[in-house]
Amino acid sequence: MKTRIQSYDGEGRPSSLRRQSAKRRRSAPSRAKTVRQVTKNKTVRCRIDGPYCSGRAETVHEKWKRSAGGPHILTRDAQFNAFQFVACCRLCNGWVEDAPTSARELGWVWTYEEVARLFPQHFLTGRFLVRGD
Ligand SMILES: [Zn+2]
Repeated sequence: MKTRIQSYDGEGRPSSLRRQSAKRRRSAPSRAKTVRQVTKNKTVRCRIDGPYCSGRAETVHEKWKRSAGGPHILTRDAQFNAFQFVACCRLCNGWVEDAPTSARELGWVWTYEEVARLFPQHFLTGRFLVRGD
C-alpha cells in the first residue's frame, strides 16, 4: 500500500515535502477521483444552493481555497474532507468567486488561520500536513 505526504505552506506554494517521483504521482489520488467521490458520480444536489444554482453537483468547491494553500484532493482525514470539499454546481462555484463577501458570511470560504484553528492536529509543524488518501 502506497502512502503519500501532502504538505502546503499556507501560501499556495507546495513545500519540498510535496515533491514526488513520477511513479508516486501516478499512484496519488487524483482530482478526478475527488470529484467522483465528493459528488457521488455527480448524483447529489449542489450544497451551496446560491442565487444562480442549477441544482446538480458537477464539481467540487474547496472552502480553504487552493490559492490559499488548501488541498484539492482527498486526504486520509474523512472529517477534514467533509469540511474542505463541497459538492456544488459550476454556477455556484463561480458565484463563490464573484461574491466573496457573501460566500464568506455563509461559510463557504475559510482562511488558512481559521482552518488551522479548526484542525490543529494537521498543523503541528506550522504547515498543513496530512497523508493523502
Ligand atoms: Zn449550485
